Amino acid sequence: MCDRHIGRHAAHLLSLPAHCNRKDRWKVWISWFLSSKGNEYFCEVDEDFILDRFNLTGLNNEVANYAQALDLITDNLADDDIQDELRGSLDVQARLLYGLIHARWIITVRGLPKMIEKYKRADFGRCPRVLCQQQPLLPVGLTDIPYEKSVKLYCGRCEDLYSPKSSRHGSIDGAYFGTTFPHLLFLVYPTLLPPKHGPSEFGSTSRASEDTRRRRVREEPEQEGGGEMFSTAAIALKADRYRPRIYGFQLNETAKLQRWQEAIRDRQISRLEDLNERI
Ligand SMILES: [Zn+2]
Repeated sequence: MCDRHIGRHAAHLLSLPAHCNRKDRWKVWISWFLSSKGNEYFCEVDEDFILDRFNLTGLNNEVANYAQALDLITDNLADDDIQDELRGSLDVQARLLYGLIHARWIITVRGLPKMIEKYKRADFGRCPRVLCQQQPLLPVGLTDIPYEKSVKLYCGRCEDLYSPKSSRHGSIDGAYFGTTFPHLLFLVYPTLLPPKHGPSEFGSTSRASEDTRRRRVREEPEQEGGGEMFSTAAIALKADRYRPRIYGFQLNETAKLQRWQEAIRDRQISRLEDLNERI
């Protein structure tokens, strides 16, 4: 049974002992899936999360052959039960099911840290914007409905979206990550929010810079009410902006627009500071 599973998925990948137990068998499909080329954005969903049917509520309406697809990803499917013509479509359904479970898992208390590990390793790539200074990205969906939009990458620094560089990643369904994930991650772990200016400290190996960042982040939320506003003003003032220039002179239209944006920003900052003084 075990050997047959391996044969089906990836004989080169796993070599389980002949008498592998339930725990080993569990990993076969998921390990195969995670190590397949193009699936590097996914993390491993814990066994007990998948086995708790409460977490899968409603997914039976999204996935055809739901019960068999679930058996396949949990390695409970007896090969004899499956006709060969069903096998191909079942693989597709199993991927869809795992993707949709994954979107739910990564916004849980146990799922977030698994994605943070990947974020720290820049598994999702780095922001291509020059002023973002190699900021690691996070995957996000533009919709939670499968088969609508492919996955995009969110930069916490410029707060913009990018397409994955590789076409293998570019074709992953965005619903496997969902619309909430990166924003919830920064809400739960505010210390991971990247700075708006200067070199990207996050992920850097310099201990001193990390200490400075931690200190700065810790100080900011401690100021109540007005503190948050002050921090917004400080961030707005420091955000790096690109200024197009010709022979050193700013382009007329862009310069006008930037002057206008900065005047609005400065007005807003002084309002925030007034408010801060009154509190
Ligand atoms: Zn960026």
